[in-house]
Amino acid sequence: MKTLEEYLAVAAQNHGHMCPGQVLGVRMAMLGLSRLGIDDPVKHRKRLLTFVEIDRCATDAVSLVTGCRLGKRSLKYLDYGKVAATFVDLEGHQAVRIVARDDARQKAKAMRGNLTDPYQQQLEAYKVMADDELFTLQQVHVKLRPEDLPGRPRSRVACDQCGEGVNDGRESCVNGRTLCRNCAGESYYEVLGDQ
Ligand SMILES: [Zn+2]
Ligand SMILES: [Zn+2]
Repeated sequence: MKTLEEYLAVAAQNHGHMCPGQVLGVRMAMLGLSRLGIDDPVKHRKRLLTFVEIDRCATDAVSLVTGCRLGKRSLKYLDYGKVAATFVDLEGHQAVRIVARDDARQKAKAMRGNLTDPYQQQLEAYKVMADDELFTLQQVHVKLRPEDLPGRPRSRVACDQCGEGVNDGRESCVNGRTLCRNCAGESYYEVLGDQ
């Protein structure tokens, strides 16, 4: 594992800027890995699966440190709006969920009151704050199905309504028909017309 400073330098480059989210994300991932006993995320990348709960700055840093990526199915995104992540050790069969504490902002202000900008206060304080001031940790169990894991698709079916292919059991069975989530009424979009 690299040092905090080394990860932060790469994180800023990868993310496009340095921000409190990079510090939180890097520290969160380093803490999660250490709790799972994973000292080298590159070497142990097949052991690790990470769930992130927000689509903001910190998630880029979590992905960078863990090496877990959406395109590899090792990074799972859940739209909970929380600066939190769960690190799952597939070999050790254990998982730890880490959430950033809301009161860390107040502590940052108290620690770095010489800086007037809350962004700068957080950026600097989050680098030096103790783990338990910055985060809350939980031991958790994550229900994983074989079709959630990395590797080749476990199944692929065509939707009975739109004909589009659906991988890994994400189809629904409605009145005896096999439907994609869109056709089953769970869509996030509305088709306006074909191009
Ligand atoms: Zn950022
Ligand atoms: Zn469909």
